[in-house]
Amino acid sequence: MAAISRTGRERGPAARLVEPRLVAGGTGRQASGMERTSDVARLRRLIEASTRVVVFTGAGISTESGIPDFRSPTGMWARTKPILFQDYLASADMRREAWRRKFDGEPVMRAAEPNRGHRAVARLVREGKASAVITQNIDGLHQASGIPEAQVVELHGNATYAHCLRCGARYEIDALRETFERDGEVHPCPACGGLIKTATVSFGQPMPQAAMLRAEAETLAADLCIVLGSSLVVYPAAGFPEAAKRNGARLAIVNNEETGLDRLADLVVHRGIGDVMGDAVGVN
Ligand SMILES: [Zn+2]
Repeated sequence: MAAISRTGRERGPAARLVEPRLVAGGTGRQASGMERTSDVARLRRLIEASTRVVVFTGAGISTESGIPDFRSPTGMWARTKPILFQDYLASADMRREAWRRKFDGEPVMRAAEPNRGHRAVARLVREGKASAVITQNIDGLHQASGIPEAQVVELHGNATYAHCLRCGARYEIDALRETFERDGEVHPCPACGGLIKTATVSFGQPMPQAAMLRAEAETLAADLCIVLGSSLVVYPAAGFPEAAKRNGARLAIVNNEETGLDRLADLVVHRGIGDVMGDAVGVN
């Protein structure tokens, strides 16, 4: 593979060896109308030329539905320390704090609905163009947009329900909240006595093996990887788009800010996902 400049947009002689690419939008300036048409047209052509798309999504696709990006500089985790998995296991106080935060944030989660970006992705899946969506999100909005559960690969789990850490039994958030409000805690699993936790992957918790293997298989089978709303700095998740590109797939990135893989991508669009994907796929 040709050497690639690591300095991003400053293209030296080495960078000219790689395939031409377009960086549209960008911090500090507005994309002109022609650039907008052109980056949407390029994305559409990449999709049309592909036989198997894998879509990789991060927080940026869901912020357009009103869900805060916890990892952003102004996000919740900038003010409130995340609870580590080990602390959740070790401390009843930490578990109470985790549930308190969960129930506090619940109205925002409940109010969120799939947006134009989710609908565009759902159309790609429905038409058989995209085989799967690999997501770092825990909000369940891809499923809510109509994508079958089996085609959503959740790397960080799902916050819309809870499960027993020992036997895997599923528990619904509403029922747990009733218990919490009555007793001040969520009791252990009635079936096996294990701890119940939201079905998310916390900091310090191992990545889910089945999801990781599935994501890898989908990545390596694709000839186009579309990244939507991920800054691609959290590993191992960010390794999938990188692996797709190194495996010969095209890589398209739509994100408001620069990402860790802009330098590798065939197309980079620094604009809103709903508009770009909606226009490229033809979804309102
Ligand atoms: Zn259990």
